[in-house]
Amino acid sequence: MKLYEFQGKKIFEKYGIPIQSGEIVYPEQKLKHLSPPLVLKAQVLTGGRGKAGGIKLWDGSQDIKEIIEQLFNLEIKKEKVRALLALKSVDILKEHYLSITFNKSKSTPVLISGITGGIDIEKSAQQDKNQVYFTEFNSLLGILDFQIRFIADKLEIENYFEFKKIVLAMYQIFKDYDATLVEINPLALTPEGLVAVDSKVELDKQASFRHQELYQELKEEVNLITGDELNNYEDVEDTITYVPLSGDIGLVSDGAGTGLLTLDLLSKYKGKVANFCELGGITSPEIVYKALNKVHQDPHVKSVLVVLIGGFNRMDEMAEGIVKFYQESRKHIPLFIRMCGTKEEEGKKIMRDANIAIDDSLHDAVKKAVKKAMEN
Ligand code: GDP
Ligand code: MN
Repeated sequence: MKLYEFQGKKIFEKYGIPIQSGEIVYPEQKLKHLSPPLVLKAQVLTGGRGKAGGIKLWDGSQDIKEIIEQLFNLEIKKEKVRALLALKSVDILKEHYLSITFNKSKSTPVLISGITGGIDIEKSAQQDKNQVYFTEFNSLLGILDFQIRFIADKLEIENYFEFKKIVLAMYQIFKDYDATLVEINPLALTPEGLVAVDSKVELDKQASFRHQELYQELKEEVNLITGDELNNYEDVEDTITYVPLSGDIGLVSDGAGTGLLTLDLLSKYKGKVANFCELGGITSPEIVYKALNKVHQDPHVKSVLVVLIGGFNRMDEMAEGIVKFYQESRKHIPLFIRMCGTKEEEGKKIMRDANIAIDDSLHDAVKKAVKKAMEN
């Protein structure tokens, strides 16, 4: 689960990592006495906001309302901007990259540090391999003093103890929250010392049962931001894999193999896929519902294709989720469904009773979805 910048920073603050002071701004909100210089930041989960125009500096010379309006009208990699973070701007002397994640092939945590951080970290890391250091460490021993000293030396950090405090706090967060990523980019050197100018925290959902209160709180915040009316049925832990693409057909499948097969067919019939939702393993009506909701969020979707091959999954349960979504959502995007396998007849009956058409042939369903997307 990815956290928004402001959510990650709340955790940073709790663990003593220096951040800029500020507040969250929602649309239509009456502004408090904000004084320049401020940096206004679109709260979306995708990275690269700076490059997409999602980070704006307000030095007091323009009308702040205009900047706020511009930001709320942005769509960053298909994500709408529904909240901003207004922060006291800092002077940046140097930018570094710092993160902790897992090296899965070596089964160890790793501290990744970059001499230069900021919006072009990937490019600079590719151009010069000596810019980035990968420091694997033992998860029980933690990051050792000599390792932190080595990195501080490479990054030419002057205040070693200040840096060490931040690195250790990051690993403490990584452990305490069962995170899979704790990233600060940039970690900025300012006249007042080091500051985490950005935050990116990703939590391991498999461990959510250990953090129920936290997840509840995070979800309430996410609901405030996305304001999704369909959310009550949505509050289930899910196993959905969502892959955003650039076409106009939404695809939901109940397995990766089924999904790949359908992607091939779609491409055979010259269809272009907007996004692909794989339900993952044994699932429930709630998860189908949630997947349908997910693919419909993309404004480019002109038709939706659902392909279910029931092994462990029961088609009557899948049908229940589809019908519920269809009846509750006010979105009338053409839907094409092919289902077969376990409890197929029961599933089809539920669909018929709800007046939702289904196709017996996968090819037909695919062809219809492509045709509809082309027409719309
Ligand atoms: P991202 O593009 O989504 O990673 O957003 P960041 O929060 O990392 O901001 C992008 C860039 O904007 C940073 O690398 C900084 O160069 C710049 N930036 C962000 N906040 C400030 C600030 O308070 N002061 C200054 N001078 N630059 C900032
Ligand atoms: Mn950043």
